[in-house]
Amino acid sequence: MIKFLDLEKVTAGHANEINEAVSRVVNSGWYLLGEEVKKFENSYASYIGADYAIGCGNGLDALWLIFRAWLELGELQQGDEIIVPANTYIASILAISENGLTPVPVEPDPITYQISPEKIEQAITPRTKAVMLVHLYGQCAYSNRIEEICRSHNLKIVEDNAQSHGCLFERRHTGSLGHAAGHSFYPGKNLGALGDAGAVTTSDEALASAIRAIANYGSHKKYVCRYRGRNSRLDEIQAAVLNVKLRYLDADNTRRKEVAKNYITGITNPAITLPSIDNYDSHVFHIFPVLAKNRDNLQQYLTHNGVQTLIHYPIPPHLQECYPQWNRMSFPVTEKIHREELSLPISPIISNEEVAEVIDKINRWHQ
Ligand SMILES: *Cc1c(COP(=O)(O)O)cnc(C)c1O
Repeated sequence: MIKFLDLEKVTAGHANEINEAVSRVVNSGWYLLGEEVKKFENSYASYIGADYAIGCGNGLDALWLIFRAWLELGELQQGDEIIVPANTYIASILAISENGLTPVPVEPDPITYQISPEKIEQAITPRTKAVMLVHLYGQCAYSNRIEEICRSHNLKIVEDNAQSHGCLFERRHTGSLGHAAGHSFYPGKNLGALGDAGAVTTSDEALASAIRAIANYGSHKKYVCRYRGRNSRLDEIQAAVLNVKLRYLDADNTRRKEVAKNYITGITNPAITLPSIDNYDSHVFHIFPVLAKNRDNLQQYLTHNGVQTLIHYPIPPHLQECYPQWNRMSFPVTEKIHREELSLPISPIISNEEVAEVIDKINRWHQ
């Protein structure tokens, strides 16, 4: 069976270095806020091209901390509206709503599946204070047009970089394009830890300092609390793993791009809509999404033929039970993507033979 993502094999590829790094931490007796975290924060900030990286517990916390810090700093007020793509993963939206801010979902572009600049403009009201750009599937959602819209309306840009470590916009990495970015190092992401981990990047010193405190009980100084914070820390073991894996991120992404190119040139079944890629530098293929009208049938067919696939995502946020206020709203582009999307196996360790087999199976599918 061709797995969607063979994590065991991904980790085994760096087994010696990872085992060495993990035992170094185990034997050091120092497990939180130590040298490994400091080293990772420095290397990740410089990799992304931001002045600061602050490690935290996971990607949702990273995004949550950004908004929380702006509330604490008085730059946002409860009830402010934050524009967010309607077809994102639920965590992007939770980070907004769970801070007492109002998420305003807007439709993506039907070709790129990324948030539409026109729809952003139409959704702006006097209460709009920020736009969250989610580089979904690993593709850059930022553009000069979005930058201009946000600048002219004085809106902050938050990037959800959970799926796009290493992705470029011109020569800059995603995660350095807006005012702040949340990153997830969930094991399956392009840069993945061996458990939960996350980080915020920003070049705003005051924001970085507030986030560091809020993630550590709200205190800059032990036992002195300026904010009502929480505990969200990146631990030393995960940081040590990330220090190893960051060195391979660009090579891993290059391999993902090769796989994507093979899919794009190899899949010729007219019932399949391939993703439209105008620039391979601006995509790191966390996900390789195809659309098919009869998606569930395609997925079953591939399962029977030994190819594991996933759906990103089966239910859009506005139709989730936890957001009843949106359940009657209609987002046709988002709903079509959720109805038709299927994610093909892609990872740095999938072989050319496996990719060829997936292509062959898909080309033989009759809907
Ligand atoms: C994975 C993911 C998150 C959340 O990250 P966790 O580390 O799982 O909390 C947020 N946004 C997007 C787009 C993601 O894919």
